[in-house]
Amino acid sequence: MLGWDSRAVHAGREDLAGLGVHAIPLDMSTTAPLADVATGGEAYELMATGGVPAPGQTTVYQRLWNPTVARFEDGVSTLEGSAASVSFATGMAALAAVLLAAVAGGKPHVVAVRPLYGGSDHVLATGLLGTRVTFVHPGGVRAALRPDTGLVIAETPANPDLRLLDIKSLVSEADGVPVMIDNTFATPVLQRPLELGAALVLHSATKFLGGHGDAMGGVVATDTEWAVRLRQVRAITGGLLTPWPAYLLHRGLATLPVRVRAQQESAHKVAVALASHEAVARVLYPGLAECDPLGLVGTQMSGPGSMLSFEVDTAEHAEAIPSRVRMMTHAVSLGGVDTLIQHPAGLTHRPVAAAAKPHATMLRVSIGLEDPEDIVADLAQAIEAVC
Ligand SMILES: *Cc1c(COP(=O)(O)O)cnc(C)c1O
Repeated sequence: MLGWDSRAVHAGREDLAGLGVHAIPLDMSTTAPLADVATGGEAYELMATGGVPAPGQTTVYQRLWNPTVARFEDGVSTLEGSAASVSFATGMAALAAVLLAAVAGGKPHVVAVRPLYGGSDHVLATGLLGTRVTFVHPGGVRAALRPDTGLVIAETPANPDLRLLDIKSLVSEADGVPVMIDNTFATPVLQRPLELGAALVLHSATKFLGGHGDAMGGVVATDTEWAVRLRQVRAITGGLLTPWPAYLLHRGLATLPVRVRAQQESAHKVAVALASHEAVARVLYPGLAECDPLGLVGTQMSGPGSMLSFEVDTAEHAEAIPSRVRMMTHAVSLGGVDTLIQHPAGLTHRPVAAAAKPHATMLRVSIGLEDPEDIVADLAQAIEAVC
């Protein structure tokens, strides 16, 4: 068995040598030639019901299947250790497909552990897709289960406060109900929830998997049975990942381990520097002992990652700081090669109910590949200009 770095470089590229190419081929066809109605119709039927075409079988239409997209999915399956992966246009399209599959399965109740990404919280809170939600804190899952509970959803580390939860305990609390872990912040480099009993792993591939801030996508790593249901939803709703972003996201997988490790090393330095800054009230970073009371870094996660948040004294100061940064960018999103800073309460978590909204004194930083000294210096000058 290859090591994880080797797998990241080669994942999803198994058929390239046979094709006589070295880089990932980009197949942009929206439609595929048909030999006759009978074989075309058979392939259509297979894919519309969640199957995948056999080698040589026509792929009919890009909304049903595409080889460039399928290679990215194979790559994600290798890294997450899943039987299958199903990709979507965005992380939110991936979540929507999981929710619709649960509703279609007759189990529309979702137990969701807060905090979650603002968009995920929003889609659950509105019930727009036919789900009914009970929001809980870790430890509250078992009491919230109902006969029609189809999913338990959680993030660890959570967006935006970096709270960690014990996936194995969550799975046992869920008592057989499928658990979906949003693994966007950890990536499979640091954490593989399927090995801990989760049924589904969701990524906003827009973030670390792509890693360069230039392609959107979402992907769910899971078993073959869920994959069939998710492909069916995708074929019907059309929220598919298209070849060009799939190509970019797949290319990102090769450098994912080195990026994650380098960004994590810098994040640790930035967290330590912020913790000793007199204007910083609190640093939220899983690599700081006080942020990991369950000791999950080094066990569940191989490292603390490169996302951190910090709090200053007032909401006004927190809102003013991002406008003062010089090298880094004031922007939402995360997981790319450059450092981004944003105010969760005002932006990414704006739609979240007041009772569950992040503190307005909090800022979230996605640490990039710049020199850590430059990141610390830029943050310090922005904080000192305001506080
Ligand atoms: C960004 C994000 C999402 C949503 O993904 P999109 O690609 O923006 O649709 C979901 N979960 C987490 C943790 C995220 O950070």
